Amino acid sequence: MSKACAYCNVEGAMTKEHIWSKALIKRWESKLKTYNPKTEKFYTGEPVIKDVCANCNNVRLSQLDQYWSEIYDAQLKNQVQRGDGVVFTYSYDLLLRSLLKISFNSCRATGDDRRAIAAHQKVRDYILGEGKKPKGFSIRLQIVTPAKVINGEKIGIDEFSHGAMRCAKIAFTGTQTNKFQIRLIAIKSFWFYLIIPINRHTKEEKSRFVEEFKKWEIQPGVAIQPAYDKVVIPVEKTTYMHPILLGSLLLAKP
Ligand SMILES: [Zn+2]
Repeated sequence: MSKACAYCNVEGAMTKEHIWSKALIKRWESKLKTYNPKTEKFYTGEPVIKDVCANCNNVRLSQLDQYWSEIYDAQLKNQVQRGDGVVFTYSYDLLLRSLLKISFNSCRATGDDRRAIAAHQKVRDYILGEGKKPKGFSIRLQIVTPAKVINGEKIGIDEFSHGAMRCAKIAFTGTQTNKFQIRLIAIKSFWFYLIIPINRHTKEEKSRFVEEFKKWEIQPGVAIQPAYDKVVIPVEKTTYMHPILLGSLLLAKP
């Protein structure tokens, strides 16, 4: 029995799709470490998923791999140092589509959150560059600098923010928790929070969800606005790797 492609639904032979894009993995300076939420351990290797057809993998989604490589080379590659602010420039649709692709790949690989998979499935035309911008999604960016040294000891694990790429659902809940979830796509100092609608909702419910998230114990980042092409993140809105941040990640569900 042949499988259907996760993106275009065409049946046939499937290929290995890299969750984070092969181009990015090639650029990674050290051996790529991947966090496995099931075992709560890092392993060395490239996470892949085998449910994408050759046409989507090599042609239709390649624009996103190209974009992701470009912003990696130009902006994400160098660790942001403590005391530095950031000006992040972006092309909104390409950024949202790239984050959705990683997030979709990651939740299919884990396979245990059907509502999240369904929410991504609904926007697969948009990810492929053929659908309208979906409503209810948004992106926030948190800059995380290396762990602080206290009494000669580093607190936090740099591996989380600087030696690994990470994509997972974070443990935030609130009054709108049955309507939205947040997935973290973290690469070095750049932690993107992707807000995903998993149920029908009103504009007011979306605003309430975001307001509650902004008051959570972890830093909520700065909103990336669709109408602009850059966001200024002043130093006081950056954070460093610290136990609460790490704790919220350890609690994070895949
Ligand atoms: Zn396909």
